[in-house]
Amino acid sequence: ALMVAMSVATISEVYGELQRAAGAAERIFELLDTESLIKEPATAKVWEKPTAIQIAVSNLNFHYPSRPNQYALKNVNLEIKAGEVLALVGPSGAGKSTLFELLQRFYDPDQGQISFNGINITELSPAHLRAQMAMVAQQPVLFSGSVQHNIAYGKPTATKKEIIAAAQKAHAHDFIQLLPKGYDSFVGENGVRLSGGQKQRIALARAILKDPSVLLLDEATSALDAQSEQHVQIALDELMRGRTTLIIAHRLSTVIHADRILVIDQGEVVASGRHQDLLQSNAMYKRLCELQFKGSSDLSNADR
Ligand code: ADP
Ligand code: MG
Repeated sequence: ALMVAMSVATISEVYGELQRAAGAAERIFELLDTESLIKEPATAKVWEKPTAIQIAVSNLNFHYPSRPNQYALKNVNLEIKAGEVLALVGPSGAGKSTLFELLQRFYDPDQGQISFNGINITELSPAHLRAQMAMVAQQPVLFSGSVQHNIAYGKPTATKKEIIAAAQKAHAHDFIQLLPKGYDSFVGENGVRLSGGQKQRIALARAILKDPSVLLLDEATSALDAQSEQHVQIALDELMRGRTTLIIAHRLSTVIHADRILVIDQGEVVASGRHQDLLQSNAMYKRLCELQFKGSSDLSNADR
């Protein structure tokens, strides 16, 4: 029995390390600098099973260490219900991606706190915290290794069958099969060259396989051609169902279908509500819609 207990502990430690590495892959450079600033709690709280997660952000202020005089987030207060889909919109530099970094605890806030189901995230080990969520970034980072390993990053214990099922859902299976060595094809330096859309679909397969409670999506329209955008959208819609989801939104259809939209400007939440209400009540939102959605702020283009 002792042997069994020990090997389970070892596996979960290795798993934790891999989870951490998966997070690191998203923002490896910052992490190299900042991981040392993130403190492990002496006794970390854990969730034994996957659980629906409700997020609360209270009185949050944050500046990047390299910019002591500029708050990237200012007095952010936010409650996100379990399973809610929240769209974040705002001009470039507003602080949207920064909020994602803090949710994953790549940095700690200067003031205020973030809690998941009432637990301050500093009371969880960073690896355990990150195991609860998956991020699909605008420019996904793949590491040097096989396609299969890149997908399994979200769940190192996955079987080949599970990996293929996730790739199918992400509409990645067909192009992967056409690669010279299929799932064993090497990506990264000296490996196969993948398009932005293909990388994003691999990142999506990774997220699907991970089966997270919280989903962070940095929407990208630029990396995808129209057809794969449509495929990815269908897979994303499916993935979001029932999960607490935050999306940095670039598509009109996303903001229209979101449960709630937050307008962020210069580090502050300046408005929140549904699309139609914000169009009426918030000039910045209206302007952002006109710019980002090329003037098509009417519902007729919602499913383009
Ligand atoms: P958004 O995602 O809304 O475009 P960001 O969250 O990326 O905005 O950026 C918010 C602010 O923080 C900007 O002023 C940006 O220049 C700054 N910033 C972002 N990342 C870093 C970083 N790693 N170090 C220092 N400043 C940063
Ligand atoms: Mg951003």
